[in-house]
Amino acid sequence: MLIKVLKELFHSELDKIYSKEEVFSFFHMLCEAYLDKSRLELALIPNLELTPEQETLFLKALEQLKRDFPIQYIIGNTEFMDLTFEVNENVLIPRPETEELIYWILESSSKEAKNSILDIGTGSGCIPIALVKNLPNSIIETMDVSEKALTVAKRNALAQKVNIKFIHHDILQLNDLDHDYDIIVSNPPYVRESEKNEMHDNVLKYEPDVALYVSDHDPLIFYKHIAKLAIKRLKKQGYLYFEINQYLGEQLYQILNNLGFEKIEIKKDLYGADRMIRAVKN
Ligand code: GLN
Repeated sequence: MLIKVLKELFHSELDKIYSKEEVFSFFHMLCEAYLDKSRLELALIPNLELTPEQETLFLKALEQLKRDFPIQYIIGNTEFMDLTFEVNENVLIPRPETEELIYWILESSSKEAKNSILDIGTGSGCIPIALVKNLPNSIIETMDVSEKALTVAKRNALAQKVNIKFIHHDILQLNDLDHDYDIIVSNPPYVRESEKNEMHDNVLKYEPDVALYVSDHDPLIFYKHIAKLAIKRLKKQGYLYFEINQYLGEQLYQILNNLGFEKIEIKKDLYGADRMIRAVKN
């Protein structure tokens, strides 16, 4: 099949499910991944004939896209903080909001700082890996309840040539941490079951439930538990950072305040929603 015919096929099959721009961008992401050709390179060779193997790959991706399977899982990687991360169905696809959380952490840390940092609920490893890349003198530990997620995170750390300590544990089962930290950060599950109707099918059907959802009767379960550990185990002037559910910021503010945290700040994401919070242990 000619590449230009394949492109038409993508539009005729997918334009009714996605916007034209999205289909265009999916097609070119697949061309990068399967043909190692950029959009500009391809524009010069519209009559490129695909091999049967290449055609099979594209047609399989087309079927997956029709079923809302995320393009990042099809390709097997995504970009985060200018780094490429392997992703699969065992890990949440890193979000731009989480990049904003990292920029916030970096703003208040000097590049030379020798911080001891703990990340809880790592998924692909995007938070600790991006942090250690930008704070190379820091020592970073990360924890996840999912062994399958940790396998992906470890491969990502290896690919980025960074040294991180991985811990396989359910944070809710821990009553204390091994030692003290300068920074504790987490993007735990925070989408309430009742909010599932606001989620897109690609998230709902394929991203890991364990990374996303919490019950409506105790949606801050992870935050409360982590904050209690953090007030014990952060060093003096240490920082706690969370990505948060936009509707629960005020409630979390009160919880952190009651635990004795100071300088509590809520920050909005690029869409204008309350998306992160930080607090200092005095
Ligand atoms: N921001 C993610 C989403 O809305 C949720 C991440 C999380 O639950 N920690 O899909």
